[in-house]
Amino acid sequence: MIRFFTLLLFVTSLFSAQVENLRWSNGETYLVFLERVNLPVKKLYYDLDKDDQRLTEEMRAGVNYQILKDNNSTIEQVLLPLNDELQIHLYRDKNEYHFEAIPIISSTKTEAFALEITRSPNYDILKQTDSQKIAQIFTANFRNSLNFKRDLRVGDPLVMIYEQKYRLGLPFSMPTLKVAMIEMRGKQHFIYLNDDGRYYDEKAHEVEGFLLARPVKGARISSYFTKRRFHPILKKWKAHLGVDYAARRGTPVVAAGSGRVIKAGRAGSYGNLIKIRHADGYETRYAHLKSFRRGIRRGKYVKKGQTIGYVGTTGRSTGPHLHFELRKRGRAINPLRVVQVTTKKLKGKEKKAFLKLKKNYDESVNLHLTNKTAFIKSANHETCCYVFAG
Ligand SMILES: [Zn+2]
Repeated sequence: MIRFFTLLLFVTSLFSAQVENLRWSNGETYLVFLERVNLPVKKLYYDLDKDDQRLTEEMRAGVNYQILKDNNSTIEQVLLPLNDELQIHLYRDKNEYHFEAIPIISSTKTEAFALEITRSPNYDILKQTDSQKIAQIFTANFRNSLNFKRDLRVGDPLVMIYEQKYRLGLPFSMPTLKVAMIEMRGKQHFIYLNDDGRYYDEKAHEVEGFLLARPVKGARISSYFTKRRFHPILKKWKAHLGVDYAARRGTPVVAAGSGRVIKAGRAGSYGNLIKIRHADGYETRYAHLKSFRRGIRRGKYVKKGQTIGYVGTTGRSTGPHLHFELRKRGRAINPLRVVQVTTKKLKGKEKKAFLKLKKNYDESVNLHLTNKTAFIKSANHETCCYVFAG
């Protein structure tokens, strides 16, 4: 409970003490930050375990963070958001500084709106919602299946239902699209978010997104992606920003997508690491490799499915496995949302469950269509605190 108490203290003292709202600058690292603001580097970095040290590498340019100072300008607390669920909390207690990773407290609301096209989905959604993010999730999800330019007419209706996270009453982080419908030439087209975290159309066929291959064929997943999880033995919050595939030492690792190798070498706790840069700001990372395939080096172009290295246990690793990460513009995302060999068609029990979900969604969509539900603008956009720029 201490954790939440300290956080609450921070929130309530926002208005009495001196809070600086700052933006993490390009090229700043956690270590440089500690030195710049005169915080003890040994206690707050070198004494941390490797997992916590790894977390500090997640700070990204553009993120809003806060420093709380007392009347003598001594730093009392620092909040550094790492992703939309976890943040680093540095605080002073009895003249000593401490490090902890704590959850970001947020609430989630389901929201919906309907509109009629005047120009294009992107233009009209943006006009109605003022949100680049909401427009973006709509167009990104329909991009591969529909041709708006050819088939869309003025007056065609569109409905979106999505989840938005809020912190202290303000929206933050990317919304999650639950269902979207757009009507073109009298035909309704849907996308539904299924319980498996993937999108399907009205025929229970998976909607093709950014397709990647599985990096180790037939391997069992031994650890899933999570932005935060409470470790019951260590009694602290951690993140696992990748997926672990357990496989025998020497098992070939293939490039999950075509792209250019931007690193093939040692990288601290990652051990032998390969990084590949793909189109659209995507990057994949393959860690703990036993060795690299001959000829795989920085600058080399590789094709999807091509062997690049071999499973090992180099770096901080307890046994042979591949630690696989997917990043988009630096931010870690769950690879299982996109890694797949082919698109899926739901069958049997899975299809039945999906159709039930679909029926509920369809009813809501029709309701919003009939009611012409308008987008509800939230309170003013952030002027100060706790909003994670993302
Ligand atoms: Zn891992």
